[in-house]
Amino acid sequence: MIVISITAPTMKEALLDIKQAKNADLIELRLDLIKDITLSGLEKLIKNKRKRIIVTDRRKRLKLIRKAIELKVDYIDLDIMVGEETIREIISEKNNTKVIVSFHDYRKTDKRGINRRYAQIKKLKPDVIKIAAFARDINDNNVIFDLIKKAGIENKKIIALCMGKKGQVSRILSVMYGAEFIFCSLREGKEAAPGQITAETLKNIYRVCDLKEPKIFGLVGNPVKHSKGFIVHNKAFGKMNMRNVYVNFLVEDLAGFIRAYKGMISGLSVTIPFKREVIKYLDKVDPIAEEIGAVNTIVKRAGKLIGYNTDVKGAIDAIKEKINIRNKKVLIIGAGGVVRAIAFGIKKEKGKLVIINRTVKKAEVLAKELNCEYGGLDKINEYTGIDVLINGTSIGMFPDVNKTPVKKTLLRKIVCRESVVFDSVYNPSMTKLLKDAASLGCSVISGEKMFINQAGHQFKLFTGRRM
Ligand code: NAP
Repeated sequence: MIVISITAPTMKEALLDIKQAKNADLIELRLDLIKDITLSGLEKLIKNKRKRIIVTDRRKRLKLIRKAIELKVDYIDLDIMVGEETIREIISEKNNTKVIVSFHDYRKTDKRGINRRYAQIKKLKPDVIKIAAFARDINDNNVIFDLIKKAGIENKKIIALCMGKKGQVSRILSVMYGAEFIFCSLREGKEAAPGQITAETLKNIYRVCDLKEPKIFGLVGNPVKHSKGFIVHNKAFGKMNMRNVYVNFLVEDLAGFIRAYKGMISGLSVTIPFKREVIKYLDKVDPIAEEIGAVNTIVKRAGKLIGYNTDVKGAIDAIKEKINIRNKKVLIIGAGGVVRAIAFGIKKEKGKLVIINRTVKKAEVLAKELNCEYGGLDKINEYTGIDVLINGTSIGMFPDVNKTPVKKTLLRKIVCRESVVFDSVYNPSMTKLLKDAASLGCSVISGEKMFINQAGHQFKLFTGRRM
């Protein structure tokens, strides 16, 4: 069940937020955050009830808790730090109100500590046990998943999650693994704890209420927060009625992640900075990905991890819709991960390739692998008559939307009306470079097109079906 935490600082705002919490099965009233809360105010909040309510007061004011019980609130949440004796007393007075006893560690996820707290809370016989710990590493989420499984075997109702950016995976998957509730925010900026996701996203994108023990796919990278893959894949899974979910794994130690999650995942997208490093952890690599030396897609088949590269096909398909690449002069700006894939594809299509980059050495290394021309970004004005211009840098990406790798006056000299200009940046979809190129009469291709193409190929590899 979806619980929306009401984090309003005043009674007035709390009443408004409760009205807006339409996506919630329950609402959690965080009394400690409502500055003007009083006993009569609490009565107003509980009596004005639109949803079932959990009353929480992290300031441990037992007067408010007892009042909530008297008002027959559905749940109260007592922190274990209130003390065992007090908790026993309140449990004996609770009537029909259900009691959640919780433990929070805002600094770390300590497996032994958590299991000890679980055992301590279990002895108090609350209706629900809640454990929330801070994830310092993506693998901390597994401590939470193991705990939920253990509670399931012992027939105990549990809410368990990791807080923080690296713990978001647990917020999405814990309910699917059998946790009672998931705590979410009303909207961005209204989080009650670090890493809380909005109820709208959990319900409509991740479908947390509909999926039980789904097949797990995801993105592994660092950072992952700007990626839109989770929207594309989850929406497609939903539309096609598939019991799959796609989550973002924010990873620092790739080897540790693969070890811990290999058994759990069915497939992965791979992004910065792991596209090359990941190869050493795979059982097999598709020949194209092997040649490029970068993997952006992993599929698990019969327990084996197999790597592919769908970036190359995603980009080349998009360009070929506009122009036949053979013998065309193609100038690529950049020499990072995405350029590696695109440049490889251009060579395969027999385009005449030049790679220019801010750091010339990187352009040189790649150009030598591909046997093509290279140069520094500062020499861009030396190139003319370019049929296909490709931006493979992040220049122009949100929030720097007014930046471009090639000023319009220079662009006019490099390309002509028949040229194609492709920007790998997909946020925004029309970058400054593309706007300038379009105004000069060139055909333009947005990075969005490449992104959707590669995600489509990835989806086919993940599921065997067309997106
Ligand atoms: P990367 O490996 O980090 O490479 C970044 C490249 O951009 C390097 O060549 C770097 O030059 C250059 N660069 C960055 N800032 C620059 C600046 N201020 N001035 C000049 N050059 C600069 O990154 P990547 O994975 O290749 O990603 C590059 C872009 O492609 C990003 O915008 C990303 O969002 C986009 N992308 C799009 C898709 C898609 O499907 N559309 C897929 C993947 C990536 P140096 O070598 O000198 O540092």
